[in-house]
Amino acid sequence: MGVKISSNIVFLGTGGDSYVVGKQLRASGGIILQIGEDQFHIDPGPGALNMAAQTGINLRANTALLVSHNHINHCNDINVVIDAMTYGGFDKKGVLVANNTSINGAESYTPFLQKYYRDFLERFIVLEEGKRVGINDVEILALKAKHSEPNALGFKFITPEYTLAYSGDTIYSAEIAAQYDDSNILILNVPYLKREEGKDNLCKEDAIKIISRVKPRLAIITHFGANFLKADPLYEAREIQKETSVQTIAAKDGMIVNPISYSVEQGQKTLYKYAREEGIRVQEYAKKEQEKVKELNEMIEKQTTLVQDNSESEDQQNN
Ligand SMILES: [Zn+2]
Repeated sequence: MGVKISSNIVFLGTGGDSYVVGKQLRASGGIILQIGEDQFHIDPGPGALNMAAQTGINLRANTALLVSHNHINHCNDINVVIDAMTYGGFDKKGVLVANNTSINGAESYTPFLQKYYRDFLERFIVLEEGKRVGINDVEILALKAKHSEPNALGFKFITPEYTLAYSGDTIYSAEIAAQYDDSNILILNVPYLKREEGKDNLCKEDAIKIISRVKPRLAIITHFGANFLKADPLYEAREIQKETSVQTIAAKDGMIVNPISYSVEQGQKTLYKYAREEGIRVQEYAKKEQEKVKELNEMIEKQTTLVQDNSESEDQQNN
């Protein structure tokens, strides 16, 4: 009988297309997956630092950074996140797991990742579809994705408690859907409400097909485009749930999902903008930080007094 590890999925962003991301109608900082002591940051798009601060996520705790493909809404903030993780390279740590384009570039793609920041990491791993990498207790399998970025991937996280699949950006095919089989939790990037000619991402109808096949315990749709937002993702998720008989939720910025109980807390554990009610975990973290700052202030004060005392006594001696 194993001890249950704590686990959370935190959405630092749920925006998909350029319109939504450009206007920040939904944020675009990626997804945080906490599994016990490990923290995985998936697809750090624009605004990752702000969203981490606003949701009480400590990026220093990132064990690994994962990039599914080299598009701006998935990895624009890769360098700033590495900088935050490592204190500007002072503390070399963390692993980058990314597709080939994100590290080596490809035709018409220069990687967002700069070599200077790449060297702040302990190591980086280039994944191709079908390849696996183990990080502590978690095995990550790279999934095939068919997208305009030629080497785009999805990820499957096989953890001691559950299996989570993340589609990344991809069009639908039966072969792609089959890769998500045996997932307890399925996160699908679904920017489009209706199938649009020449688009290279999932629409609602594709999501229904995939969820019906995989039958996860929980399906989460995210990465919304303008039309999807206008239609109201909550309503659409309910429709998908009706069609598939699978519990389906629409992600919201700052949303926390406990993948073990499948319970959803709408920003309850988050701070600042996304706080509905202040939660215990983050509150405690914030309290600890406040205590640290207080301690530091007291220390500085003491030292200042000491210096003053010394100078006073010196003054006295001089007199
Ligand atoms: Zn993309």
